[in-house]
Order: sequence, then structure tokens, then C-alpha cells
Amino acid sequence: MRPNGLVIAIDGTAGTGKSSVGKAVAAQLGYGFLSTGEMYRALAYTVFEKQVSAEDADGVLQVAKQMVFSFERQPDAKLRVLVDGVYLGPEKLHLEETGNVASKVSTNAAARAVLTAKMREAGEKGGIIMEGRDIGTVVFPDADVKIYLDASAKERANRRFKQLQEAGQTPDYDKILASIQERDYRDSHRAASPLKAAADAVRIDTSDLTLEEVITRVRKEIDCKIG
Ligand code: C5P
Repeated sequence: MRPNGLVIAIDGTAGTGKSSVGKAVAAQLGYGFLSTGEMYRALAYTVFEKQVSAEDADGVLQVAKQMVFSFERQPDAKLRVLVDGVYLGPEKLHLEETGNVASKVSTNAAARAVLTAKMREAGEKGGIIMEGRDIGTVVFPDADVKIYLDASAKERANRRFKQLQEAGQTPDYDKILASIQERDYRDSHRAASPLKAAADAVRIDTSDLTLEEVITRVRKEIDCKIG
């Protein structure tokens, strides 16, 4: 085991509850929780801010190389991602558009290598739950526990629709579903580190499970390792 505990990888499609589950379990264990999508979102936002095209492979790589990432542990276990000492915040990182650009810049293999190295630094001492698309396959192929979460696109669109409604917006269900399907396709068909379950990952379909039920299943896998 690493000095601070286990490395736990949670991968899967967007909107399957990876963050909610990961954060809750990390808080129970006293571990840190890192959502690596935020690093790709931060890259996307910075690329946009510097007026570099998401399709300009070398431009995106240069931006990735210049970004200095640091991580700040929050009371709820979340490791807040800072870029050049600045927290970009959900209003910039969680715009639908930032997510779409993130899914484009994350097809850049060289930029992925830069971000992957930063993720390994963040997790090398253990005591961390890391959530993303390629944590169990590429970032930490030797993770102690690997979980792969999935849910039907319709169920994920429903969840997103409700979230936006609760936030006072008037979302369009068909658009949300189309955007989820488009992102799934891009994430799983790209050449560089496509989204796929590691052969040794525990797969959980969350379509018909509550958050609490998923947390219990994940805890069972972890508790076996902790002994
Ligand atoms: O998980 P989240 O929706 O925040 O991720 C945004 C985008 O970043 C994803 O659509 C995916 O393309 C990319 N990503 C990735 N590898 C990761 C995490 C996220 O390619 N480990």
C-alpha cells in the first residue's frame, strides 16, 4: 500500500454519478477526491481564453505545458484544481460548452500525456479516489480498486434534466440526450486513451440504483482491500 492509503479509480461515462459517489466515499475514508475531468475542463477553458482553436494540436499542447496545476483539499474531501494558483470555479468549468470543448481537447494525445503526469503526481502517495475516463486503464493501471460506472443515456439525460430544472433553468430534454450521446461517442471512439472499462474493473450499472446503493457497492469492494 502507498504511504497515505489506497489509490481508487472510478471511471465511466458522463453523468453516471462518479463524482457524487467518489466524493462521498472519499469523505468516509478520509481520502482526497480528484475529478480529473476538471483538469480537462480547465485546459479547455484556458485554450478558449487564449483564443487557441481546440483543433490546433500543437497550440493545445503548448497551453497544457504552460499550465501549472495545484490541488487544494476541501473539507468535503474534494481536491480543488487550481491553475497558476487560481481556482476557475464551476461557473467557468461546468458550462455545457466547456464540457464539449474538453471532450475535443482531450483527444490530443500529447496534451493528455502532460495532464496524466500531473494526475500521477497528485495520486502517487495514495489516499485518493480519482474519477475520470482512463484512470484504471492509463493513469493508474495498478490502482488498488477499479470501479467502472455506467447508466443508460436516457437515465443520465433524465438526471441532468432534473438537475437543471432544480437550478431554475428550462432545459430541453432532447438536446441534453443528444449532447450526452455525442460526448459518449467521442469519448469512446478517440484514438488516445478511449473510455473503456479496465479488464479488472468492477462494473456497476447505476440506472436503477440510488446513490446510497452505489456507495454501498463501492464500499464493499474497497473494504475487501482494506481488510
Ligand atoms: O467528467 P467530465 O464531464 O467533467 O469530463 C469532461 C471531459 O473531459 C470528458 O468528456 C472527457 O472527454 C474528458 N476526460 C478525459 N479523461 C479523463 C477525464 C475527463 O478524457 N480522465
